[in-house]
Amino acid sequence: MTQQLSERIAVCTGTFDPVHLGHLDIIERGSRMFDQLVVGVGPNPDKAPFFSAAERVALLEQVVGHLPNVRVQAFEGLAVKFVRSVGARIMLRGLRTLSDMEYEFSMSLMNLTLDPELETIFLMAREEYSHVSSTLLRQVAQFGGDLSKFLPPTIRAALECRARERGLIGQSR
Ligand code: ADP
Repeated sequence: MTQQLSERIAVCTGTFDPVHLGHLDIIERGSRMFDQLVVGVGPNPDKAPFFSAAERVALLEQVVGHLPNVRVQAFEGLAVKFVRSVGARIMLRGLRTLSDMEYEFSMSLMNLTLDPELETIFLMAREEYSHVSSTLLRQVAQFGGDLSKFLPPTIRAALECRARERGLIGQSR
C-alpha cells in the first residue's frame, strides 16, 4: 500500500437507484469542501436495482454537470478499494436518521479496519430531505405518486418511465 492518497479528494459511494435531491445536496456541499469529489456508483448485494449501473451513472451525470470538480464512476467490490484506486483518503457519507447512524457507524468502523489510512466524514442531511431514500421513491413511483419535491425533473421522468415499464401497482390501466 504505497500509493499516495490525498485528503483533498473525497469519494461519495452509494447505489443511487436513482439519484435524488438528498444525494445531490450532499454532492454539492461535498464539492465545495474538497478539490475533487468522485461519486462512486456501486452494487447493492441486498437489492435488485431498478436501474443498471450504466443507467445510474448516466442519470447522475445529467445532474452534476454544473459541478466541474465532480465526476461519476461505477465500481465493483469493496468501497475502500475503489476509494484508494482513485487516490482519495476521504469517504463522504450523508446521515439522515438515527437508524442510519447505527449502520453508518458500523460501516465506518469496518472501513477503518479494512483500510486504516481512509477516513469517513459525515454530513447531516438537510431537514427537507432527511426522510428521502431511493427505496421510498421507487415505491412511490410504483404507486403513481407525485415525486416532484424529491427528484430533479429528468430523474423524475426516468423513474416514472421505468415504473410504467414495470407496471404501476394499484392503478387500473
Ligand atoms: P447506500 O445504498 O450505500 O445507502 P445510497 O444511494 O442510498 O447508498 O446513498 C448514497 C449516499 O448518500 C450515502 O452516503 C447516504 O447516506 C447518502 N444519502 C442517502 N439519502 C440521503 C438523503 N436523503 N440526504 C442526505 N444524504 C443521503
